[in-house]
Amino acid sequence: MKIVVDKNLCIGCGVCVVIAPKTFKLDNEGKAEVIEPVGDNEATIQDAIDSCPVAAIKSTNSNGEEKL
Ligand code: SF4
Repeated sequence: MKIVVDKNLCIGCGVCVVIAPKTFKLDNEGKAEVIEPVGDNEATIQDAIDSCPVAAIKSTNSNGEEKL
């Protein structure tokens, strides 16, 4: 699973960081970024993705297809 944050959409609310702190952190502009390699399990990461208020986090499977 590959995780990408669209920083143009991210509003820096920090929800993803609270839910999956081993996968997301805020950069020095207050936007979320992905910690590689990701440190949380897939269910936790999916929870963070689903909780983002602006749907800025995308994940793709190993085929590069976007998971919704
Ligand atoms: Fe940005 Fe979404 Fe994470 Fe909030 S939950 S910091 S908007 S990526």
